Amino acid sequence: MSPYNKPPSASPLRHHAADGAHADTIAVHAGREDFVALGVHAPPLDFSSTYPVPDLDAGMASIDAMVAGGLPIGSAVYSRLYNPTVARAESAIAALEGANATVAFASGMAAYTAALLAARARGSHVVAVRPLYGSADHLLASGMLGLRVTFTEPDGVRDACEADTALVLIETPANPTLQLVDIADIVAQANGIPVMVDATFATPILLRPLEHGATLVLHSATKALAGHGDVLAGVISTNDDTWLTALRQVRLLTGGVLHPMAAFLLHRGIATLPLRVARAQSNAQRIVELLLRHDAVAAVHYPGLANSDPRGVLGRELLGPGSTLAFELKSDDEHAPSRCMAALRLITPAVSLGSTDSLIQHPASLTHRVVDPDVRTAHGISQQLLRLSVGVERVDDIWQDLELGLAAAVPHLTHHAMP
Ligand SMILES: *Cc1c(COP(=O)(O)O)cnc(C)c1O
Repeated sequence: MSPYNKPPSASPLRHHAADGAHADTIAVHAGREDFVALGVHAPPLDFSSTYPVPDLDAGMASIDAMVAGGLPIGSAVYSRLYNPTVARAESAIAALEGANATVAFASGMAAYTAALLAARARGSHVVAVRPLYGSADHLLASGMLGLRVTFTEPDGVRDACEADTALVLIETPANPTLQLVDIADIVAQANGIPVMVDATFATPILLRPLEHGATLVLHSATKALAGHGDVLAGVISTNDDTWLTALRQVRLLTGGVLHPMAAFLLHRGIATLPLRVARAQSNAQRIVELLLRHDAVAAVHYPGLANSDPRGVLGRELLGPGSTLAFELKSDDEHAPSRCMAALRLITPAVSLGSTDSLIQHPASLTHRVVDPDVRTAHGISQQLLRLSVGVERVDDIWQDLELGLAAAVPHLTHHAMP
């Protein structure tokens, strides 16, 4: 086995970045602890789909270990079972999350599916707190995975749990209305049933759900973790060995693995995650102030504003409001949101979030199109709602662009001269 193929955890560590270091430092060093010993300065990129097995006895032992949800012993045998570049990105995220381990998948939805299949082996029922990411809601509502689902509100979890409930699913801050859910409260209501938190919007820089009692934390790493709009990836982190091995087993058998190139880009993105989160968040705070004062805006949704945080989670669990916000146009014209998006010249009209560039989208038409219209309305996903993921550009430039969009959307309430 080449030295590049050693999983980071099996290497003699010069210094483990997680040992007491600040998240800013962990982000830069995690998953790279053996670089000096290896004589490299960038993560070795291993594209092998198969690995030599010169010794059959050793190969069998390695397969047995991986089929049981563990790590390879010697040869990794086949890249669907284990890939060292992916393992590096996983160990970096585990360090940031304060978790024993992370399992990476081809996308956030592949991660979601794996968690639900692992849950399916424990029980036939799950509880899901709405609102959820559109495709997650659709996956659950479709019944495709053979699970019964009770959808509920944050204070309905206790009543929704049954003897056969295998998992409680929440998302915070929730998409797209930025409602905050109190993780510790959900864990208390679940009363021993494992809770999975989709913390994609917060990133591990602003929220570490395992510290508040969650069993699993999921991220669409497509978003801020990778951070540059060029990677699809999903990750689940946990301190629970039973869930860890189950997730690895599901990945091994269903094949939703992360490609090593995507893992390399994800790992690279993580190094600047704290810087990007801080900059995008301060930009978003300024944009929120300006939107609140704008005549064409009927409402702004952002953690920290009234209504988003009924239980005072900001500062207690969520360390900062983040960089995603939503606002409603003051208009009765159903075409106002599309006029707003079409008038922008800098902000990218696109779904997704957490990229270096600012992104704007219309949830009712795009991300939440697959959600039942009544559910959309009940959760504030109105026709006039636009979601903005604020990037790391200069904030004055973002605002100038947004003013163009607002003027085009609601001309009679906008007093700014068009250029
Ligand atoms: C994007 C997203 C997902 C799904 O992730 P993919 O990588 O697109 O599969 C899940 N949850 C949230 C909150 C998301 O924003």
